[in-house]
Amino acid sequence: MFLLFKYFKNYKLRVFFTTIIKIIGTLLELAIPLILQYILKTVIKNVINNPDPYGNYDITPVILYGLLMVLCAFLFVVFNVIANRMASKTSTLIVEEERNKLYKKIMNLTLKDIDDITIPSLVSRLSTDTYYLYNSLNTLQRLGIRSTFLFIGGIIVCSFLDVKLTLVFYALAPIVLILILIISKIGIRLFTKIQNKGDSLVRVVRENITGARVIKALSKEDFERNRYNKLNKEIFDLEIKSSYPMTLLNPIINYILNIAMCAVLVIGAYEVTKTDLDVATVIAFISYFTIISNSIVSISRIFEQVSKGYASALRMKYVLDIKVEHIKNTPRYSDAFIEFRNVSFSYNKNGENAITDINFKINKGESLGIIGSTGSGKSTILNLIMGFYDYFSGDVFILNQDIKSLNLKDIAEASSAVLQTDILFNQSIKENLIFDKDISDDEIIKVLKDTDAYEFVSKFPDGINHVIAAKGNDLSGGQKQRLLIARAILQNAKILILDDSSSALDYKTDAIIRKNIKKYDITTIIVAQRVSSVMNQTKIIVMDDGKEIGYGNHDDLLKLCKEYKLIYDVQMGDDSNA
Ligand code: ADP
Ligand code: MG
Repeated sequence: MFLLFKYFKNYKLRVFFTTIIKIIGTLLELAIPLILQYILKTVIKNVINNPDPYGNYDITPVILYGLLMVLCAFLFVVFNVIANRMASKTSTLIVEEERNKLYKKIMNLTLKDIDDITIPSLVSRLSTDTYYLYNSLNTLQRLGIRSTFLFIGGIIVCSFLDVKLTLVFYALAPIVLILILIISKIGIRLFTKIQNKGDSLVRVVRENITGARVIKALSKEDFERNRYNKLNKEIFDLEIKSSYPMTLLNPIINYILNIAMCAVLVIGAYEVTKTDLDVATVIAFISYFTIISNSIVSISRIFEQVSKGYASALRMKYVLDIKVEHIKNTPRYSDAFIEFRNVSFSYNKNGENAITDINFKINKGESLGIIGSTGSGKSTILNLIMGFYDYFSGDVFILNQDIKSLNLKDIAEASSAVLQTDILFNQSIKENLIFDKDISDDEIIKVLKDTDAYEFVSKFPDGINHVIAAKGNDLSGGQKQRLLIARAILQNAKILILDDSSSALDYKTDAIIRKNIKKYDITTIIVAQRVSSVMNQTKIIVMDDGKEIGYGNHDDLLKLCKEYKLIYDVQMGDDSNA
């Protein structure tokens, strides 16, 4: 709960002024019944006691005090509106800042953390949870301050009016507060559950949308629909369950308050007849009772809102608190530009190894080809070179240095990659290629020519300023790959990584692009299923089931690695002119 108050830390002044304005408004609201009491008890008595010589009453004072009540009511509304606008602005500023922090953090998470939390959950933490946080911060400032002051101020004024009647409140307050606390505790728990289930729903929907073609092709619609319906039903049931305590709260509190109201009336009636308590005071007291009752009901509503915001704040905090830690060793060097020494790695701490005992070395400007069946560990080797995971055993060197002694920024800038999952964005080709880098159009066009992409790009009326559809869906697979390779080259990194990124290109284009890449001073790693794509690289690794079953140049492998020879014979027999 206090977690929520921490958010106001940088906005103390704004919150302070909001509070002051709210308090003035609340005091005006509290003054109204007092004025009423004064009119009933004193003003009217004076008017009755002082008729003019003709026996008429001058009711001007009553009207004036009545106008004073109207003025208080008017100003109270004005102050409230001003304070509420300030509160909304403050909440917007805070949530904006938190969202940015969260976004930056997510961008810096390691793949391992993203795998753990899952992408849909991160998305809903950025959207739904920030929304609930906004609501709760808003409620705290708008209703929280007002209700608390109405409650406390009301009880104080009542104590001055009549102590005996006020005792009813003192008896009541603890019961109601305990009730609110218990119910909001249950609420928070159920609400967190709903949020987490919501993540799964987002995931299923997302998978269904992105995988729509696959689902249709495999006639999996019914299966997917059931999966969605089941989750939806679970969330529905949870929502119903979590609404029970909250919906019970208001009637129970109203019930208790009504009993108390009866008590006040009975005690009031008794005292008016037996003591010097006057009717005007009882009427004022009942007005305050209504004010205090309403404030209790809105405090319970605040708890509901704040419980949701708190659950969301915890979910956001969980991500923000993840330590993006990078084990930093004292620098060690290799004579090779990129080297793996006895590297083994498993994605899950105790799971099966994705790669086992990998060794290779390449010098600056040389190239490495990796070939092997799907799931043999090719992409995993690339993940380690790019520094996505650092809990491997053995040694990885890039830029001649132990990767664990480099800082994250250097690792990130060392390589640029075309990965199997890479996408193009709904922006112009130029923006897609250079992001926010400052690169001249001539240079872009040169690289596009080298990646054999300029031919189709120049056909667009607006050339490189042509805006492509989301994910590049209006381009062919081969066109996308050409642009992605151009993008990777334009990043001007020292290492270029191509993960199966020429699969949609014909042999000839693939060969031309590979030849052109050699013009750039860049160390290249090419993962491919085709021998033709790797055979001209300085070194080649043949992977099978996470193990390196062949390592050397093309000629070595033809002699020494029978699997490589087999792939070569089969593929080159198919297409001998490649
Ligand atoms: P390739 O690129 O050769 O097709 P990968 O390197 O992607 O193969 O995968 C090697 C093994 O590691 C496979 O068994 C695969 O299921 C597993 N694997 C790949 N990525 C992950 C991941 N993010 N989490 C867990 N296991 C993974
Ligand atoms: Mg792969």
